[in-house]
Amino acid sequence: MSGVTLAGLFQDLKQRFAGASLHHPAADARILIAGLLGLSQTAFLSEPERLISTEDAARVDAAALRRLNREPVHRILGRREFYGLDFELSPETLEPRPDTEVLVEHILPHLSRIAARKGEARVLDLGTGTGAILLSLLKECPAATGTGVDISENALATATRNAGLLGLAARFTAIRSNWGEAVATRFDVIVSNPPYIPSRVVDALAPEVRLFDPRAALDGGEDGLDAYRRIALDAPGLLAADGIVALEIGFDQRLDVTDLMSRAGFALLEQACDYGGNDRVLIFTGHKGQA
Ligand code: GLN
Repeated sequence: MSGVTLAGLFQDLKQRFAGASLHHPAADARILIAGLLGLSQTAFLSEPERLISTEDAARVDAAALRRLNREPVHRILGRREFYGLDFELSPETLEPRPDTEVLVEHILPHLSRIAARKGEARVLDLGTGTGAILLSLLKECPAATGTGVDISENALATATRNAGLLGLAARFTAIRSNWGEAVATRFDVIVSNPPYIPSRVVDALAPEVRLFDPRAALDGGEDGLDAYRRIALDAPGLLAADGIVALEIGFDQRLDVTDLMSRAGFALLEQACDYGGNDRVLIFTGHKGQA
């Protein structure tokens, strides 16, 4: 034993994090310690005198040094919860954000409606990363099957592993493709949280994001809209009759993305804001008569 208690370890970490001006020193310390030692968050209250082994104290210290180097806590732990499910992360996957849960929430009623009508529903996730969006949809809708597309092999391996861990492997397919290029069939729901931050803004983001989230998952080109141009081009050939396209967008992109999509033949059906009140979700339908 290191002679250190859980409460002592927590206090020490919290102070080091606060001293380095991290925004959430207490939460970061709690999540890291609990995650590394396999403790529940309530252990800090119920077992403050719990003794920590020298080995565990050393593991926490190594993780603390990474956090002080600005690596986000969930990257350090290698996993993060999204829509109530646990997802593994890897270097080429974006860390799923709570705001993206709003996208999932707004797709679900459409997915259920389509699945009820057709007896099945096919979902395509362009730029699937960890698979967080697609796998959450599959978990909630047992009649749905899904294809996760990514240009990164590392991301596809992670999404495939997550599908297995969540018991969804049988309904999940991974395809390596630059957007819709290598996708040959049509889908009832096309979803994407593409890179949408203008290049120069990426360079000014917090170190936690800029240094540890993959740039390819963030950088939407000069005006942030490159991926939407590509999606608008590919989606007409990928969407089944009466299907929907659901997109996450940047806070100031609602009009631009709606414009790009309507020029490609899609009509805005629904829009939603994130937990901070910013425009974040757009859902489109294909024009009637689309194949
Ligand atoms: N919402 C993410 C962020 O703020 C950006 C994700 C994206 O570009 N799709 O960092």
